Amino acid sequence: MSDTTCTVLIPEGIPDPDIERKVFGESFAVIAPAASSIEEIPADLWRRADAVMGRRHFTYDADLMGKLERCKLIIRMGVGFDNIDIKRAGELGIAVSNVPDYCTTDVADHAIGLMLGFARGILALSASVMENQWRWEQTSTLRRLSGSTMGIIGLGRIGTAVAMRASGLAMKVLFYDPYLGEGVDKSLGIGRCYELKELLAGSDVVSMHVPLTDETRDMANEDFFRAMKPGALFINTARGKIMDSRALYDALRSGHLSAAGLDVWPVEPPPENDPLIKAWRTGEPWIRDRFTLTPHAAFFCRDSWEELRTKAALEVKRVLQGEKPRACVNETWLINPRYRKTTFQQPC
Ligand code: NAD
Repeated sequence: MSDTTCTVLIPEGIPDPDIERKVFGESFAVIAPAASSIEEIPADLWRRADAVMGRRHFTYDADLMGKLERCKLIIRMGVGFDNIDIKRAGELGIAVSNVPDYCTTDVADHAIGLMLGFARGILALSASVMENQWRWEQTSTLRRLSGSTMGIIGLGRIGTAVAMRASGLAMKVLFYDPYLGEGVDKSLGIGRCYELKELLAGSDVVSMHVPLTDETRDMANEDFFRAMKPGALFINTARGKIMDSRALYDALRSGHLSAAGLDVWPVEPPPENDPLIKAWRTGEPWIRDRFTLTPHAAFFCRDSWEELRTKAALEVKRVLQGEKPRACVNETWLINPRYRKTTFQQPC
């Protein structure tokens, strides 16, 4: 290994970093230790890393950043970057990027899938046949989607893809996103709500597509669920911490909500003694067929996984060659970026 070889660290590992090696060729060394905690990785490895490809399990806080003496880029192999202190990284000259679009359609499909699972009773009806019954009239979540209203909170990439799919199912679509300029509703032919409560009161299905921020943490709380239409369906494929799971329990237990379809939970995997999870797993009659949780997998399929790894590696390659990152999320704080001090001839 020459002195100028760049070191790319994938702390949480990748079963076989073949895709990354193909993108990097001979010039970058990939180290993928598959550590289960930050402490398992020797300080020297953090120090030597020219780029870090981070997944979602480690928290990249100020302490960890302090160890990254050479690092020019932390790339979050995913969309949400709430586990990285992007401000501190920027102050140290470390660019932070994400891979914003590798699973846009997959997550949108998952949200629609969760909705269809209840609206068409697919999980419940199939379970009844499995139990040797041939009954359909007892599934409480069945409803006609055509003509009913889908409310989307956060009309970014995934929210927009959900809006298009819901329109394709002949649903009316409303959205709430205070950060978008005027006219998006006109371009997409959907309705805009300037107040969250207006959207909640008017939607038969509410689907969450906001990032986890200080503002959205616990956004779906007791008041939120109370403001939803009686009998409405709640879908969350965004982040678990944007909802208060105790408030969701109450909204389902009281019968105010018809069902909830989730891909995320505030703590993943959920604690066994969580009241909602426990009631669901032990088959308490009141929750039967009205709740489902998938293991934060909305992003995943073979195609999205390959796209994610290829795009993440290409971003690393660009930055370690001294080029500007394409998907930088901390430009505001990125003073004196370290990557600008490198050139293609002297990659690291
Ligand atoms: P995006 O940045 O394109 O869209 C987010 C939208 O939310 C933006 O339009 C923004 O203006 C809006 N927003 C921010 N704060 C808001 C608020 N307080 N109220 C209403 N709207 C607000 O992101 P995206 O690609 O659509 O992804 C959305 C989220 O989905 C990600 O942040 C990530 O947490 C989650 N996600 C989950 C999975 C999964 O596997 N379950 C996969 C990818 C992404």
